[in-house]
Amino acid sequence: MELKIENLSKTYANGVQALKNISLNISNGMFGLLGPNGAGKSTLMRIIATLQDSDTGSVYFRGIEVKNNKPKIRKILGYLPQDFGLDPQIEAIELLNHFAILKGISNKSQRKQLINELLNQTNLWDSRNKRLGSFSGGMKQRFGIAQALIGNPQLLIVDEPTAGLDPGERNRFHNLLSEIGENIVIMLSTHIVDDVTDLCKNMAIINKGEVYFNGKPSDILNSLQGKIWIKEIDKTGIHQYSDKYKILSTRLFDGQMLVRVYSEGSPHVSFSNCEPNLEDAYFYTINGVNSNLQ
Ligand code: ADP
Repeated sequence: MELKIENLSKTYANGVQALKNISLNISNGMFGLLGPNGAGKSTLMRIIATLQDSDTGSVYFRGIEVKNNKPKIRKILGYLPQDFGLDPQIEAIELLNHFAILKGISNKSQRKQLINELLNQTNLWDSRNKRLGSFSGGMKQRFGIAQALIGNPQLLIVDEPTAGLDPGERNRFHNLLSEIGENIVIMLSTHIVDDVTDLCKNMAIINKGEVYFNGKPSDILNSLQGKIWIKEIDKTGIHQYSDKYKILSTRLFDGQMLVRVYSEGSPHVSFSNCEPNLEDAYFYTINGVNSNLQ
């Protein structure tokens, strides 16, 4: 395994236990870390990115222990944090140049070539001389990936990159991530299930600082095969259902309510069986009834 996370725990000074003995094994390719807000995703990402220390446990990237080898790890790391503060007055190309200098790319023509490549790769070439303050949310995130890719990172950490993007921008961002390549570890944290569905071959679900599931999306989906049931109901009658059935989600469609229910067998003749999706798996896991999947 390329990235090994062993027994990480972290308690903040205010007493919040953000990580409780987290262990994960992560191979090359895109890994999705899925969990609700407050689950501990950013804390875990910051520890891997050398920006914060855990209280106990270790992280190894390709055999290098992270906490005691921060400079070495930083050389092969790309990081897009959740809150990426950018000086609104600076032009995109100017700031990329600055980041490239900080990353140690001292040769001017080499730097220029790299920056041009990154601007093209992230579809920002036409906006290279625009100030960052004029960028849309999606452009800012693509710029964030451009800076994270400087220096050819072997480990790319992207923290909640699609939060706040509109569907078109999210799509462009997904395409960009999917083109980065399978030979490095890309760790993507998100609370949006579709990010993982679209992009990740491997995933973990974390909640309340603990790993609830670690494996392939297909594993978790297979385990729910035949156990997801659906019914259209009148929305005023939802209370009758929530008392009787294990409701995973409800969705309004054409003024009617569509309920998705977990049940080993048919809950009632009025329900139809349907294909599980990752959102079913996520809610099932998070709601604490999924102990057989860990
Ligand atoms: P996520 O990224 O999944 O939303 P975080 O890692 O940001 O989760 O937070 C996990 C928990 O730790 C939350 O309860 C959060 O309020 C708390 N937390 C995060 N950062 C700090 C901090 N610097 N000081 C105190 N508590 C924090």
